[in-house]
Amino acid sequence: MSDVSSVKIPEGLVYLDNNATTACFPEVIAAMEPYWSVAFGNASSSHYAGRLAGRVVESSRTTIATVLAVDPGQIFFTSGATEGNNWIFQAFADSKTTSRHIVVSAIEHKSVLNAAKRLEKFGFDVSFLPVTSDGVVDLNVAHEVIRTGTGLVSVQLANNETGVIQPIQKLVEMAHSVGAFFHCDAVQALGKMSFSLTELGVDSATFSAHKIHGPKGIGILYLHSGVNQFPFPLPLAGGEQERGIRPGTVNTPGIVGLTKAMEMLPDKLALDAMCARRDRFETVLLAAIPDARINGANAERLPNTTNIVIPGCESGMMLANMPLLCISNGSACNSGVMEGSFVLRQMGLDEFKASSALRISQSTLTSDMEMQSAVDMIVSAAIHIRNLES
Ligand code: PMP
Repeated sequence: MSDVSSVKIPEGLVYLDNNATTACFPEVIAAMEPYWSVAFGNASSSHYAGRLAGRVVESSRTTIATVLAVDPGQIFFTSGATEGNNWIFQAFADSKTTSRHIVVSAIEHKSVLNAAKRLEKFGFDVSFLPVTSDGVVDLNVAHEVIRTGTGLVSVQLANNETGVIQPIQKLVEMAHSVGAFFHCDAVQALGKMSFSLTELGVDSATFSAHKIHGPKGIGILYLHSGVNQFPFPLPLAGGEQERGIRPGTVNTPGIVGLTKAMEMLPDKLALDAMCARRDRFETVLLAAIPDARINGANAERLPNTTNIVIPGCESGMMLANMPLLCISNGSACNSGVMEGSFVLRQMGLDEFKASSALRISQSTLTSDMEMQSAVDMIVSAAIHIRNLES
């Protein structure tokens, strides 16, 4: 058993990987605590302890619905966005619809992309929408691809690697004009931009608590139709929890933590400050490394995300040279070979450039000093690697 008290964070560590996950706010931890100890009852039990848990689950649902400006009957708790995304694809597959054409963007998170590829193996026809060099779904292609016979369209609101925001409203219009269901993975957008689910017009959306300073293992599935009008069969078998949408004992502490995190989402002022910090960071970095390029620079982007290519500096080597900087290189190791990010490849970057990309993602906890330390570490690692190779 590892001893938690022995966990030590090295001095000077800078965490800028908030698109991967965030620290729980102390208020979130404090709100959850009683629901593990004194109020631990099963929310489905009819005795006192159960009713206590059941009540907080329902009041949480109402609070979350208010934050998202929707109805509590449209909110369902899941274990996270991976489950919610898979749930939609499975429900669609179970419907035995004759509209067996699925459209997803080519830069979706793996939980959407691989759910679509899985259905391809079961005979569904899947189209992957290309993106422009700035990482925005190509609407002209989408217009051609979304057609009669398309049953499901799934496009994210903002990309996890570049922060690029997608034209969801226009895509929803295209999908609905042919009678297709529209799902939106809105995980990265929550708390980083303002949006209205109702105005976007999506039929379903997914969210995840651990991206907004909430706990891991809890998320939201938003269904515009609620449960009774949902057009596909419910894919999971089990109890009646979450009105049959998500059987399984309800994660009361997780829901309480998620709700607290939703109540603490940053306001416009905090997001503007974050955006200004990002812009300063990018200006200083580009001044120090003039041949570096920001991916998605000309598109609408989340205020917290910078994705930058530093030519000649393979991102794995960069990370190894910056042990105190927690950022992501966005690359995946497939069969022992480092491959550049598929998102960047889709944006037209060659293997060489895509393998030299770094993702720096802030949260509202990030300070100017941390951003300055990140610049210093990135610049000195780049100089070091370039000197090795010259
Ligand atoms: N979609 C996006 C865009 C994400 O960034 C993530 C998390 N990396 C997920 C889905 C999966 O979320 P979860 O960790 O809650 O399963």
